[in-house]
Amino acid sequence: MIPLDVFGSGSVAADLLQQVRWCDGVSCPRCRSDRAVRNGSYGHFQRYLCKDCGRTFNDKTGTIFAHSKIALRKWLFSICAFLRFNTSLRQLQCEIEVTYKTIHRRVERFAEALDAPSLDLRGPVEIDEFYVSAGLKGRERDRLSRSRGLS
Ligand SMILES: [Zn+2]
Repeated sequence: MIPLDVFGSGSVAADLLQQVRWCDGVSCPRCRSDRAVRNGSYGHFQRYLCKDCGRTFNDKTGTIFAHSKIALRKWLFSICAFLRFNTSLRQLQCEIEVTYKTIHRRVERFAEALDAPSLDLRGPVEIDEFYVSAGLKGRERDRLSRSRGLS
């Protein structure tokens, strides 16, 4: 098991998200303009002002992390542990203190965004719409990967 603080303080996680998300430059998630300027901060996250639509956004806006009460570093830890070390979601549920449903949904959505292999569906499968859609995804797998970025 990797330690939960592998992503350090909240600001380390925020820096990581910022680097990955804006690797091609900052653009407004609402109007796609690249005329955005730094505009204060939102907790650990950089805030921006779009000079075209006048709206503000931050590093998390438009990502699956946007409205989560769970700290970003906990999500990064969970996703990393799940994808790289095959840590079970049941185990992660205890590590980051969220419900199984919450962590299942988030990790699945993230894996989907990365187009990573889906959750393993062999063995007993819970009756849950979420498992059903994951199953369909597995059968579509022989197609070329789509690129969907972080959102
Ligand atoms: Zn805009």
